[in-house]
Amino acid sequence: MRIAVLALQGDFEEHEAVFKRLNVSTCQLRQKSDLDLKFDALVLPGGESTVQGKLLRELDMFEPLRSRIEEGLPVMATCAGTILLAQQLLDDPVVHLGTMGISVRRNAYGRQLSSFHTIGNFAGLKDVSMSFIRAPQIEFCNPAVEVLAEHNGRITAVRQNNQLAMTFHPELGTDSRVAEYFLSEML
Ligand code: GLN
Repeated sequence: MRIAVLALQGDFEEHEAVFKRLNVSTCQLRQKSDLDLKFDALVLPGGESTVQGKLLRELDMFEPLRSRIEEGLPVMATCAGTILLAQQLLDDPVVHLGTMGISVRRNAYGRQLSSFHTIGNFAGLKDVSMSFIRAPQIEFCNPAVEVLAEHNGRITAVRQNNQLAMTFHPELGTDSRVAEYFLSEML
């Protein structure tokens, strides 16, 4: 089994480190030809969604990745990755991959709360470590989307068939259970 990590920008190395701890091999997607590598699932890391979306288009990786996701490739998206998957951005006319039935507001926590750490329930798992860094908010979900986590009444993790998306960073720290959920429930 091999997990591809989109490695254009953002914290892709932290995601790779989690899978390494779980003895799962990874490969980096940096250019179009990397899409020919053999992999079973995709991680879209946090970072800056505008930069990632622009690079995906410039490098001609946008369409092939979008169709692989629509064909059922398991994908785990965190933070900026979630913005890339959203069908609608509430404060931005641009839509990126748009494969997931969620409406997302970027930088939704304002300046005061822009970065914080908490623990919470995720898909029945207790006290999962969650770091929020200039996090977006999932404001609406269509009926195909299942809510897996919430924090203070805000939706923080969702799943739609092969797509898992969250507004926090589960890859920071030593708690690997979100990645384990992805591997065991979605691959
Ligand atoms: N604020 C970033 C964006 O809009 C996301 C932040 C993150 O990925 N930690 O893309």
